[in-house]
Amino acid sequence: MIKHHPSEEWLTKFVSGDLPASISSAIAIHAEMCPVCQAQIELLTEKAATALEISEAPLVASNQSNDEVTADFSLYGLDIDDMIADITSDISIEPATASANLTLEVKGNSYPLPRALNAIDMGSFSGLGKISRAKLQLNEGEIHTHLLHMEAGGKVPVHTHKGYELTLLLAGTFSDDMGEYSPGDFILLDGQHQHQPYSKDGCLCLTVVNDALHFTQGISKLLNPIGQYIY
Ligand SMILES: [Zn+2]
Repeated sequence: MIKHHPSEEWLTKFVSGDLPASISSAIAIHAEMCPVCQAQIELLTEKAATALEISEAPLVASNQSNDEVTADFSLYGLDIDDMIADITSDISIEPATASANLTLEVKGNSYPLPRALNAIDMGSFSGLGKISRAKLQLNEGEIHTHLLHMEAGGKVPVHTHKGYELTLLLAGTFSDDMGEYSPGDFILLDGQHQHQPYSKDGCLCLTVVNDALHFTQGISKLLNPIGQYIY
């Protein structure tokens, strides 16, 4: 059962397109898995659309009526209804099932690839011990996005975060000092959090990090190259 969701603030920014592509992808994937957030996004989208109508309406009303605007266009042989029909028919939306069966192979495991990632270029998986990762080519400067795979028994040394670390669990389970996570969980951590993710049975995550992980405990400090690696 999903226990961790994006904040309402992020869902609102997701709807208005005000988030980096990496975070938007994570929210889109979470929504594929979470009916609650899916419904919330639909609601916020409706609200945003209504707000747009309200804010645009006075612009027209102050000068001329809608009919007059339409009449002006028709002088040039343009029909607004036709134009809108043209514009909307250009947006080709793939049916949800058409591309849902792409799979991802990692170390002998096969995972369904989330639809939101279908169009994103991805590097190949490379590994360090039980951890392997593939970079998503989103070209967002200091924001790095990866698919991170942990084999059964895989562990990331205790670390905190200089920036933020977003983990979206796609498949399998992992746990840390704060509890156990299930597929769909959307976990946002920052410099105040310290944790040591461990996966008993293996898992696949999407991670978005905006600065290197910072390892905090004893010998873990010697492992900082792993932090750089995971970042
Ligand atoms: Zn949710």
